[in-house]
Amino acid sequence: MYKINEIFYSIQGEGHNAGCAAVFVRFSGCNLHCPFCDTHHQDGTLMSAEDICKEVAKYPAPMVVLTGGEPSLFADAPLCDALHAIGKTIAMETNGTRPVSVPIDHITCSPKFEFNDAGQAKLRLSRIDELKVVFIGNNDMSLYEGIVAANYYLQPCDTGNQEETKKIVRQTLDYILQHPKWKLSLQLHKILNVR
Ligand code: SF4
Repeated sequence: MYKINEIFYSIQGEGHNAGCAAVFVRFSGCNLHCPFCDTHHQDGTLMSAEDICKEVAKYPAPMVVLTGGEPSLFADAPLCDALHAIGKTIAMETNGTRPVSVPIDHITCSPKFEFNDAGQAKLRLSRIDELKVVFIGNNDMSLYEGIVAANYYLQPCDTGNQEETKKIVRQTLDYILQHPKWKLSLQLHKILNVR
């Protein structure tokens, strides 16, 4: 059984698959403690792989996004096989602290070592399709430069303060213009004010 915080259907707002319809499966629980985390780690309903597939199959999108919490703690081969068997491709959004040995089609890694004990948040992934860094203006970008990924995204942090966020957006654009291997990721769902 898997402890699922929620399953919902929406548009992927961020990163490489931004704009694509997807079913989001949010696991409950994480191994890190980021100060800005807005996930309710304890809330959840126990569901079997069959229950999850039944819910996911209600929606036409071919993509399922496993998120959390930290999905790599929970997503196992039986669940991935069951999702593949109903024709879904699987994307995972992970903090990268655990090796992923199950068949995931697209791995987005958003490292959190700037906000946690560096040892605890150390990356242990052997493949990253998309590295996504939330830019807060004063990130130590040298921490990310050695990470090998197929795509690199920098996403301005929405601080909730309009002036501050505007400044971070400018800094993000400046960084990308100077380091063009990075691409801009926006949180489309926030801009559009949708789920
Ligand atoms: S890694 Fe993600 S889910 Fe875990 S504490 Fe940090 S922000 Fe929250």
